[in-house]
Amino acid sequence: MVNPGRADDGQKPNSLAIAEQDLIAARRKFLTVIRATAGVAFVLIGALTYGVAVIAVAITDGRGAQYATTAALLSLVAAPVLVVAVKVVVRQVKSADAVADARQHRLDAEGRHRDLESKLADALEMADNESEALRVIERSFATVLPRDPIELLLADNSHAHLTRRASTSPEGVAADCHVGSPQECPAARRARVHQFPDSEAINACPKLAEREQGRCSAVCIPVSVMGRTVGVIHSVQEFGRVVDESEIRDLQSVANQSGARLGMLRIMAETQLQASTDGLTGLLNRRAFENEFLALRGRSRHSSAVVAMADLDHFKIINDTYGHETGDRALRTFADTLRLTLRDKDLLCRRGGEEFAIVFPECDLASATAVLERIRHELDESIKTAGLPSFTVSMGAIPARLTDDLDDLLSRADIALFEAKRSGRNRVVVHESELDAAKVDEGLAGWALAAPESTTL
Ligand code: GH3
Ligand code: MG
Ligand code: MG
Repeated sequence: MVNPGRADDGQKPNSLAIAEQDLIAARRKFLTVIRATAGVAFVLIGALTYGVAVIAVAITDGRGAQYATTAALLSLVAAPVLVVAVKVVVRQVKSADAVADARQHRLDAEGRHRDLESKLADALEMADNESEALRVIERSFATVLPRDPIELLLADNSHAHLTRRASTSPEGVAADCHVGSPQECPAARRARVHQFPDSEAINACPKLAEREQGRCSAVCIPVSVMGRTVGVIHSVQEFGRVVDESEIRDLQSVANQSGARLGMLRIMAETQLQASTDGLTGLLNRRAFENEFLALRGRSRHSSAVVAMADLDHFKIINDTYGHETGDRALRTFADTLRLTLRDKDLLCRRGGEEFAIVFPECDLASATAVLERIRHELDESIKTAGLPSFTVSMGAIPARLTDDLDDLLSRADIALFEAKRSGRNRVVVHESELDAAKVDEGLAGWALAAPESTTL
């Protein structure tokens, strides 16, 4: 990692090089003044020594009074010149010192800024999801303004609402801006930094007037993702303290780097989601379902599970009678019904067309069958609520082990589904022979075989 404050990194920006040159020039000036002072002092001491020597000689040869008067007159003339010379020297030394101090301050700030930028870039690159990136942003807030509350407000996907996604509250006080959307925030709307030294000034942000903590100052930095302003970094200071230029520059770097990384992470997450889900229903697609099944096998403590297949009944008629659009709405309604009824840990997939697969991990067949029956009933309600033409679903279920081959399990569940279709549709059929095998293998006793309406083969 490059230490940005170092002069030997070979990548100095112009401003840093200029600051260093200024510092060298200030030091040269300082040395010139010191040399000039030494020269003047040397001449004065020489003249004084010479005067003293002359007076000493005169006293011994009797012309002392005359020389003493001359020396006194010379001293009277030389004294103000000496005082002025000393004042000039002191002023020059002070000014050289002040210039050197200022340049050093700029160099330090530049070094700190480059250090922050490099560490932030490193940390954000390591964050591979949004919540990790937000934790990095919070840590950078505490580095830039450790004493002041700061928050990051970000727009949601609709761009209609701003929500607080990261914040620091030193001494328990929060920045706490109540702005609701990017349009309501002047900094986000105008896409430029806004600094408000006094919340009670005529041109202060109206949102500052609503604060509980009373009169304050604030700074607001827009955050953009690929050229679009999507949020704002907002910090509040106690009245009288105004953040300086270098602190604003640091906050701008945090805003720029955070915006770029969050944008990238959102694109990555969206691409991943698109690659793993079915576009119409949002359920897992075949490939993602297979991957999730393997992951489930890896993390489950029990291997007993239930696998089910579902297929909408006479769905072609819905399409042919009411149109493809209505068919699509029906598919989404069924998917929503499944999602709402199943547990978070159940795997759910649209295998294609109007066919769905479910894996119930750590579940016995009786419980799974009861859930499948509930889905059949819930579907009726969902259809009424959505104002859709009536349709039903047939389902087949088998007891399974997660260690079994998934294709094999699905084919066996398909046989039960086929039986559900053959025996009249709108029902759940459980494959009994599979159930018996599982009961023997796993030693699971006392399973309730099936819900009253379901059929056991
Ligand atoms: P069964 O009860 O035997 O399952 O009869 P079915 O009509 O449901 O079965 P079939 O396989 O004959 O027809 C399935 C229909 O599902 C045909 C196709 O138009 C429709 N379908 C498949 N995918 C989609 C889709 O994405 N959107 C819509 N609207 N319809 C779809
Ligand atoms: Mg069908
Ligand atoms: Mg089908």
